Amino acid sequence: MDYLPLFFDLKGKDCLLVGGGTIATRKARLLNKAGAIIHVVAPEVEPELQLLVQQSKGHIVHQFYDASFLNGKSLVISATDERDINQQVAKDCHQRRLPVNVVDNPDLCSVIMPAIVDRSPLVIGIASGGEAPVLARKIRTQLETSIPAQYGELAKLASQFRQSVKEAFTSEDERRRFWENVLNGEIAEQVLSGNAGQAAAMLQEKIQQRDLARGGEVYLVGAGPGDPDLLTFKAVRLMQQAEVVLYDRLVSPPILEMVRRDAERVYVGKQRAQHTMSQQSINELLLSYAQQGKRVLRLKGGDPFIFGRGGEEIDLLAANNIPFQVVPGITAASGCASYAGIPLTHRDHSHSVRFITGHMKEGDINYPWNEFVDNSQTLVFYMGLAGLSTICSKLIEHGKPGDTPAALIERGTLPEQKNHISTLEKLPAYVDSHEVHAPTLLIIGNVVKLHSSLNWYKK
Ligand code: SAH
Repeated sequence: MDYLPLFFDLKGKDCLLVGGGTIATRKARLLNKAGAIIHVVAPEVEPELQLLVQQSKGHIVHQFYDASFLNGKSLVISATDERDINQQVAKDCHQRRLPVNVVDNPDLCSVIMPAIVDRSPLVIGIASGGEAPVLARKIRTQLETSIPAQYGELAKLASQFRQSVKEAFTSEDERRRFWENVLNGEIAEQVLSGNAGQAAAMLQEKIQQRDLARGGEVYLVGAGPGDPDLLTFKAVRLMQQAEVVLYDRLVSPPILEMVRRDAERVYVGKQRAQHTMSQQSINELLLSYAQQGKRVLRLKGGDPFIFGRGGEEIDLLAANNIPFQVVPGITAASGCASYAGIPLTHRDHSHSVRFITGHMKEGDINYPWNEFVDNSQTLVFYMGLAGLSTICSKLIEHGKPGDTPAALIERGTLPEQKNHISTLEKLPAYVDSHEVHAPTLLIIGNVVKLHSSLNWYKK
């Protein structure tokens, strides 16, 4: 190990910044966050840096550096583009055993600044000893996206109750189990959802009852239309956390790959006319896993609350006091439209959009067809493939022009996406003469015309 990582308490300590430009300002922002008193010596100082110095109650000296400025300082950062000055600062500091950082010059540094992920009081520093700063920043970005923004709040909660937990549980093993349950369960989820107050009350009660039991919970998560890049950060986090996952046909294999490796996987897939498991059985299965104290992920294609029967699945959980949360996903309409270059609304072509299920009971759909005729709205039919010709002919019958543009988007957002662009009149015959694979989404309206100029994904 070339460097020993240490964390520096700079609160109320005088620090010297040599230089007044953009890089000095960047360093001053960090010093300011750490509560340091910032002093700057430089002939010219950027306005933002002036402000930071003022906020930190430090001073600016508009002149060139000399060693007298080092007196009483706890840390020195040299951020000038004058190599001579940087060298002089480093030399003077080394003589005084004063920690010094020279920006972009690891050879002159006694301390180096890592790339930082700040979830105070949790702080992560990533350093490459100046060898590969771009790589260090890349890792930082990865961590930034995988550690929820509220993680600091979780650390604060743990610190607030640390003592009372110590008093409630004398054995270290029990304390560890207790904290593991708290940090991996509903209480942590409450904090991460922004309900720190509620979480504190729940934690207090759990301590009072010396409760070591692990409560189960359910995450109803929208996995989007297929492209794993369209998952939300929250979805990915919960996918990594759950011990059991119930998924169906619409969840694409690359997305399933992202679920925790050792999680138990249960396929409850549904396909038109060959339901693998009844909705009632799925609801009961979710409940039963949660009652066993498991963290259960119910992964659904698109958004759970759009033709996803998400409401029914959590109904039974709510009635049985099982904690659950619902994570929205990108619904097929948004995903397919974006990846086909079809804006669902447009100032010139469409003022509203309607999501409609095309799933027909006994081959007929009882719809207010008259309302669908208005030409300034976009219609999106989910599950519309089997009933395609009925949908098209009903719309025409009720007065929608046969030449209204219509698109059938096959396997939207996936690498195999195909865009079948036609008109209301011609689409059924077109589909009959082509091989089309489910899932497909039907988009009808003048916005479909824009596909020819705005398509970017599968040209
Ligand atoms: N909850 C889902 C919809 C479930 S209903 C959502 O919000 O997207 C299932 C229907 O969604 C399918 O029949 C199809 O019409 C549509 N669908 C889902 N994923 C799709 C995809 N990748 N491409 C095209 N259509 C899709």
